Amino acid sequence: MTADKSITETEIRQVLAPVTGDRLASLRLGAEATVIVLEVGGLDQLGRDRLEIGVRDALRTMDLPPLRIAQMADREGADEEKRGPVIVAVGSGKGGVGKSTVSANLAIAMARSGVKVGLVDADIYGPSQPRLMASEGERPQARDKQLIPVQTRFGVPMLSMGHLAEPGQAIAWRGPMAGNALAQLIEADWGDADVLVVDLPPGTGDVQLTMIQRFKPAGAVIVSTPQDLALMDATRAIGLFDKAGVPIIGMVENMAGYICPHCGEESDPFGSGGAEAAAGTMGYAFLGRIPLTIDIRTRSDAGRPPAADDGPIADRFADIARQVLDGVGMTVAA
Ligand code: ADP
Repeated sequence: MTADKSITETEIRQVLAPVTGDRLASLRLGAEATVIVLEVGGLDQLGRDRLEIGVRDALRTMDLPPLRIAQMADREGADEEKRGPVIVAVGSGKGGVGKSTVSANLAIAMARSGVKVGLVDADIYGPSQPRLMASEGERPQARDKQLIPVQTRFGVPMLSMGHLAEPGQAIAWRGPMAGNALAQLIEADWGDADVLVVDLPPGTGDVQLTMIQRFKPAGAVIVSTPQDLALMDATRAIGLFDKAGVPIIGMVENMAGYICPHCGEESDPFGSGGAEAAAGTMGYAFLGRIPLTIDIRTRSDAGRPPAADDGPIADRFADIARQVLDGVGMTVAA
């Protein structure tokens, strides 16, 4: 379909105004999709359906790229005047389980579903998002002491602890310094982002505490490998969020099953299903399983996350992203 270039976002807003009132949270007219986020807090299901149908009806005769409508429910206790993006924290019990890989791909999958999403790399021990997101060497600008996120080719603006240090300088964030560094990233100019995916350091240290106390996440995703040890550690990470009243959206099992690049056969070097079983026992949702593949590793190193392309791994991340958005009250309709 070729969109009529003469239609502007302002015109769409004018057409929608009588239908949405102040419930139009955001609108973006892109080349491939017209993305609309509706604020549906306080409406029952019928009211939400009516609102969405009203929007589709109002735009029916306009020559626009396909509509993607997301419904965002009001957050409980949210400060109406200062509504920042919804924060999704991604944690793990220990390092090396693929938490950063999952965070990056999750953010990209969310962006592909039409949600405006930013990515924060708060991993003080080894900020790896600049490499994963192909933004190594870029420096964020600042305006009035507020950082401006770095744009990436995946439509996901990002900031990393790595961006706060001079290149080559070792980072030894400790205590309050780590918390303040996190605050700089979270309080950056995220524009009209709906969601921030925050890649936390592994474990339960100062950054996690600041995250929970100052920027209460709407939910947490826990990444684990199928190994028992990682699961035990993951349990500690869950405990921290749980105690602070941060809802656990669910667990992702990474490196579950090895897919041989030659024959495509799947084997289980670390066992499989451990995270799913543990999630079941503890009463948490299991969001999905990402296999161990050479392709995921080489793409991660090359700044080409699989979620940005089409294929079975991208599908798995899209599925996980949908569940996570659901978990924070943002239902994305195709
Ligand atoms: P963490 O953030 O938990 O420390 P990373 O995301 O940095 O872990 O991943 C650690 C290493 O494992 C990286 O080299 C990454 O490319 C690789 N990796 C992560 N997930 C997978 C996977 N599913 N298949 C293959 N390699 C993976």
